[in-house]
Amino acid sequence: MNPLLQRQIRKYLKGYAPNDARMTMFLDAVSRAYEELEENNKLLSHTLEVASLELTEANERIRRDADNQVCQISNYFEHTLDLQPNIIFRCRKNGSAFQVTLARGELLKRLDVHKQQIEQRGLEVLIPDRTKWEFFERAWQGKDQRFDFASPQSHVICQVSLHSLKEGDRVVELIGIIADISAQKTVEDKLRQSSEDLARRARELEQKRPIMLSMIEDLDQSRTSVERERDRANALASEAEAANRAKSDFLAMMSHEIRTPMNAIIGMTNLLLDTPLNMQQREFASTVSRSGEALLEIINDILDFSKIEAGQLRLEIDTLELSPLVAGTLNLLDSRAKEKGVTLSMDIASDVPRLLRSDDGRLRQVLVNLVSNGIKFTKDGEIVVRVRRLAIEGPRIRLRFEVQDSGIGISTDDQSQLFQPFIQVNAGIARKHGGTGLGLAISRRLVDLLGGRIGVHSTPGIGSVFWFELETETVQDPSARHDQAVAHEQKHEGAELFKPVEGEIRDKKTLRILVVEDHDTNRRLALLMLEKLGHRADVAGNGQEAVEAWERYGYDVILMDCQMPEMDGFEATREIRRRAATRPTGPNLPVKIIALTANALTGDRERCLACGMDGYISKPVRLEALAAALGQPDPAPEPAPTALPSATFETSVAQLRDELGDDVTLELLTLFLNDTPQRLVELRALASGADRKTFGRAAHSLAGSCGVFGLDAMRQLGLELEKMTEQEGDFTAVVLKLDAMFLAIRPRLEHFRETISKTSPP
Ligand code: ADP
Repeated sequence: MNPLLQRQIRKYLKGYAPNDARMTMFLDAVSRAYEELEENNKLLSHTLEVASLELTEANERIRRDADNQVCQISNYFEHTLDLQPNIIFRCRKNGSAFQVTLARGELLKRLDVHKQQIEQRGLEVLIPDRTKWEFFERAWQGKDQRFDFASPQSHVICQVSLHSLKEGDRVVELIGIIADISAQKTVEDKLRQSSEDLARRARELEQKRPIMLSMIEDLDQSRTSVERERDRANALASEAEAANRAKSDFLAMMSHEIRTPMNAIIGMTNLLLDTPLNMQQREFASTVSRSGEALLEIINDILDFSKIEAGQLRLEIDTLELSPLVAGTLNLLDSRAKEKGVTLSMDIASDVPRLLRSDDGRLRQVLVNLVSNGIKFTKDGEIVVRVRRLAIEGPRIRLRFEVQDSGIGISTDDQSQLFQPFIQVNAGIARKHGGTGLGLAISRRLVDLLGGRIGVHSTPGIGSVFWFELETETVQDPSARHDQAVAHEQKHEGAELFKPVEGEIRDKKTLRILVVEDHDTNRRLALLMLEKLGHRADVAGNGQEAVEAWERYGYDVILMDCQMPEMDGFEATREIRRRAATRPTGPNLPVKIIALTANALTGDRERCLACGMDGYISKPVRLEALAAALGQPDPAPEPAPTALPSATFETSVAQLRDELGDDVTLELLTLFLNDTPQRLVELRALASGADRKTFGRAAHSLAGSCGVFGLDAMRQLGLELEKMTEQEGDFTAVVLKLDAMFLAIRPRLEHFRETISKTSPP
C-alpha cells in the first residue's frame, strides 16, 4: 500500500486497534483502490500526452493547407487582376508623397507601363499629369473621387475612380480603378455631334418649311392636273377603242355589202364565159372575172384584218400534221409559181415532229401570204420553205419557219416599215403586182395570236428570207404518223386511185328548189346555176314569201338568203321549222334549208345552224359549192360504190366533155382543183372535233365532187369517212390519206385542164 496513504489513514485512525483484522482488510481494500487509481492516472496522462502530440501535428497540417490555399487564392486573385481590362491599383501616403503599392490589369500594357516599374514608386508613372494629383489628396480626406486624363504616349483617354480604405476614422490606403473610356468618348462625341447636326437640320427645316409647304401645294395641284389628264386620256382611249371597233364593224359591214354585188359580178361573168363569145368579148369578160377575183381577195384581206383588229378572230387550235400542211400550201400556189418560172420546194428538218397543236387554217394563211409574196417579187428562181426545230422541252416546242426567195429583195430602210397595214415598199414594182399591203400586217397579227414572232432578212437584188417562230406543243400519235408515212410513199404512184365511177351530180334526181333572195341579180345567178346543175327552182323575194311558198308547194331544198326586208332568213327558217314540227309527214317534209350569205363574221355559221338551217354557202356562190351543198346526204340510201358503172378517169372526163361541153368541163376541173385543197383543210380541222354532222357533210360533198371525175378511190374514202361520223375518234389519219391521194392525182388533173383549154375554141 502507498506509504503516504498508510500514514494518512493511521493518523486519522489513532486510537483504533491497529491489528484489528477488519481494519487491516479495510486498509488493504483502500490501498488497492488507491493503486488502481494511480494506475489510471498514469494511463490518462500518457493518453493526454499522445493526444496533444497529434493535435499539434494536425494543427500544423491545417496551417500549412491554409497557407497553401491563401497562396493559391492570392495567385488566382492576382491573375484575375492581371486579366481584367482596367488597371486596379493601391496606394499609400508616405510623408507628403503617394506611393503605389500594387498595380494590375490589361490596360497597363496599352499604356506601355510595366507593373514592376510602378510598384513602390511615385504616382507619376501612372498619372503623369501632376494637376490631377489633387484628387488623391481629396480622396485621402475620405471622399471618393473620379477624374479623366489623357495618356500622352498612347492617346488613350482614361477615367480614374478613387476610393479610401479606413481603419477607424483614419484613412490608411486608397484603392483606384483606371478604365479606358476612349470608345465611350468617341460615341459620346459622335452623339453630341449628331444631336448638334439634328438641331442644326431642325433649324434649317424650320427655315425651309414655308418653301416645302408651297412645293406640296404645287405638287397637289400637279397631281390634280395629272389625274385630270389621265381621266381625259382614259376617256380618249375608250373613245378611240369605240371608234376603232366602229371602224372595224364598218369595214366588216362594207366588205359584206361589197361581197353581195361581187357575188353577182363574178358569178355572172363566169356564166357569161360559158356562153359562145368572140375573142374580144371573151377577153373583156376574162378581165372582169380576174379583176373581180382580185377585188374579192382585197375584200377578204380587209375583212380578215378588221376581224383581227376588232378581236373577233378566234383561233381553232387542234392537232395538225406539218408536212402535208406545207406541201398543201405549195401545191396551192404551184401553178402561179410555174407561170413565173419559179420553182417551189420545202425542207423540213428530220427532228421536227410531224404532229403539232396549232390552228391549221391560220398557219396555212401565213405561209400562203409569205410564199405568194415570194412568187410576186421573184422573176425566176426558187422559193424554199424551211422548218427547223429551235428548242424542245417535254411537249413544248419552238419552231422556226423560213420562206426564202431569190427575188428583188428589200432595202434595210424599207424593211423597218414592213408588217404595218397598207405599207408597200418598192412602190412601182409592188403596185404592178397589185395587193393591198395588208398581207404582212395580217401575218404578223396571226403569228402574234399563235404565240410567236415574225421578221425578215433581205438583201436588195439577192432575195429575202421572211421568218416566223412559233411556240407550240407536239402530240404523240404513232398511228397517224404511220398512216401519213404510207400516204407520202404513195405520192406518185396515181393507177389504183383512178377507179372508174360516174359523176354524182348527174346521177341525182331533179330537185325542187326554192331560192329566197331579195337581190335581183343574185336571184338570177342562183337560178342559172341551178339550171346548169339540172334542177328546177322557184323564187321568193323575202322570208314571208318563202314561208308561204313552202306551205303551198313544198320543196326538197330552200336556198335562203339571210338579210332580207320584212322577214329575214333566220326568222323564216325558224317559222318553217316550227310549222313543220306540227305535221309529222307530208309532201314538203323534210325540207333542207341552206343559207346563202355574204356574212363572214365570227358566229354567222353557228347562227345559221342554230336557227335550224342544215348548211351554209358563203357568197360569192361557186357552182361546185352549190352542187356539193345540194349533194348532202339524201334520205334515200347511197348506192353501193361497187354497183357504179365502170369507166376510167379519162373516159369520165371524155364523157363530161361530150355531154356538157369543154367549157363546163374546164370550169368543173378548175373548181375541183381550186376547191379541194380548202375542203381537205376543213376536213382535217373537223376530223378530231366534236361536230360530227359537219364533218360527215364535208366528207360527203368531197366524195361527190371526186365522183364527177371518176376518182373512185378518193370517193370511196370520202364515203367511208362520212360513215365514220357514227363512231367516236380522231380521223385525221384517214383525211391525211385523202390529202396524199389528191396531191398524187393533181398533176394529172392539171394536165387534162391544159389539154382541154388548148383544144377548146376561144
Ligand atoms: P401586198 O403584197 O398585198 O402589197 P404585203 O403586206 O404582203 O402586201 O407586203 C407589203 C409589201 O412588202 C409589198 O408590197 C412589197 O413591197 C414588200 N414585200 C413583201 N414580201 C416581199 C418579198 N418577198 N420580196 C420583196 N418585197 C416584198
